[in-house]
Amino acid sequence: MNIENLTICTAAEGLRKRAFSSVELTQGILDAIQQKDGPINAYLTVDAEGALKQAAAADAARSAGLDNDLLGIPIAIKDIINVEGQPCTCASKMLEGYVSPYDATVAARLRSAGAVFAGRTNMDEFAMGSSTENSAFKQTCNPHDLSRVPGGSSGGSAAAVAAGTALAALGTDTGGSIRQPASFCGCVGLKPSYGRVSRYGVTAYASSLDQVGPMTKTVEDAAILLQALAGVDAHDGTTSPVEVPDYRAALAGGLKGLRIGLPKEYFIEGTDPEVMVHIRKAIDDCAKAGAEIVDISLPHTEYATAVYYIIATAEASANLARFDGVRYGHRTAAPESVFDLYAKSRAEGFGTEVKRRIILGTYVLSSGYYDAYYGRAQKARTLIRQDFTNAFKQCDVLLTPVAPTAAYKRGEATDDPLKMYLGDIFTVPANLGGLCALSVPCGMTHDRLPVGLQILGPAFGETMLLRVGAAYERLRV
Ligand code: GLN
Repeated sequence: MNIENLTICTAAEGLRKRAFSSVELTQGILDAIQQKDGPINAYLTVDAEGALKQAAAADAARSAGLDNDLLGIPIAIKDIINVEGQPCTCASKMLEGYVSPYDATVAARLRSAGAVFAGRTNMDEFAMGSSTENSAFKQTCNPHDLSRVPGGSSGGSAAAVAAGTALAALGTDTGGSIRQPASFCGCVGLKPSYGRVSRYGVTAYASSLDQVGPMTKTVEDAAILLQALAGVDAHDGTTSPVEVPDYRAALAGGLKGLRIGLPKEYFIEGTDPEVMVHIRKAIDDCAKAGAEIVDISLPHTEYATAVYYIIATAEASANLARFDGVRYGHRTAAPESVFDLYAKSRAEGFGTEVKRRIILGTYVLSSGYYDAYYGRAQKARTLIRQDFTNAFKQCDVLLTPVAPTAAYKRGEATDDPLKMYLGDIFTVPANLGGLCALSVPCGMTHDRLPVGLQILGPAFGETMLLRVGAAYERLRV
C-alpha cells in the first residue's frame, strides 16, 4: 500500500479486494501524519483512537456484506465542521478546548457511509483569510515549498491532501477557501452551488455565501464525496430540493460540442504571466479536444471584491456575536462588570483579522451607513448574479484562473490585508452568484509551484463542472 498516492477510488478498490483493511489503511494515514506533518503542520488534532475504532467498525461492516465508495476511507475534516466528540476550534482561541456534542450534517452523512475521521485540519481563524496564516495555533506550510503558504482558508485540508497525509478532505468556501488552497497546493477543490450541501453544524462565517465541499486528488474523488454530501437537509432551510444527480456518471462526457466561455474581465493585467501561460494552454487543450470557445463579458466583475468584503463582513459581524463568553466561547478570568466580561472575552478570544472584519461588518450595517454600503452591495450582488445568468445562456461553463498568483512566501501579505483581499478577485464572484466552481491543477511554475484552473458552472450545474474537469484531467495525463 503506497499511502501517498492512494485516492478514495484506489483505496476503495484495495478494500474491496481485501488487499488491505480499513484498520491498516487508517493506521497508514496516522503513520504518514506522524512522519510527515511535522514541518507542514496541516493538522490541528489527530484522533488516532477514534479513527481506528471507526475503521474496525467499517471492516466489520464490510465482512457483513456492506459496501460503498466511502466505507472505511479516512477523510480529513477542516476544523470548522462539528464532528461529535472531536474538538472544533475554528483555529481560534475563542473555541480552544471546545468539543462538539453533535455531528454537522456533512459529518453525519460521511459517518453513515462508514468514512473514518482521522484528523482535523488547520485553517484561517473562522475561515477569514487566504493563506492560513490567521490560525491562532499553527502556521501551515505548502508541501511544494515549505517557505510558502498553502493558501486559505482551508489550507490545512489542501496541504494534507497534497502531502499525502490525507486521501481527501473537506473544506469550506465562502469566497474561495476551497479553490484557492487547492490551486496553491495542486489538488482538486469543488465549491458546490449554494444550497447543494447542508451548512448545519458548520460554524457560520457568512451564511449567504458559505458552502462545504471536497478537496481531493482527482475529479472522480470529488464526485464521490459530493455524492455523499449533497442533498436537502431538514436542519438547513437553505438546502435545495433539486434532485441530486449521479455525479460519477457525468465524468465520461468529454468536451466535444461543449461551449466554454472566457470572461474577458478575468483575463486582465495584474495576473502573473506565468499563471496565464498555463491557463491559456489549458484553454487551447480544451479547444483541441473539441470544445467551442466563446468570448463572454461579465461587466460587473470589478465590483465583486468590494461587494464580497461588505456582505461577508456584515454577515460575520452578526454570526460572531454569539461568541461572547456567555453563550459560546472563551470567558475572561476576572471580569469587573458585565460589560467588561463581554469586552475582555472577545478581546482575548478573537485574533486581529477577525476583529477587523467584525468592526468592518458592524460599520457597514450601522445606521447612517447601511444604505450606502450594505444596501448598495446587495444591489451590486444582484447585478453580478445577472451577469452570470446571461453568460450561461451563451456557454456551458466558464474557464478562468483561480488566483492571480501561485503560492506566495509566508509573511509576504500578512501586513497588507487589502493586498490579501484583492487576491480573491477570481473566486468571490461564484459565491456571490450562488454558482458551483471547481479548481483543477493545470501546470507548474518554474519554481515548481502548482497553478489551478477554475471551471465555473451555473447553480446546480455540478455535473457539467465534473464532466469538464474530468475531461481536462484526462488530457493532462
Ligand atoms: N479569502 C476570503 C476571505 O478571507 C475567502 C475565505 C473563505 O472562503 N472562507 O473572506
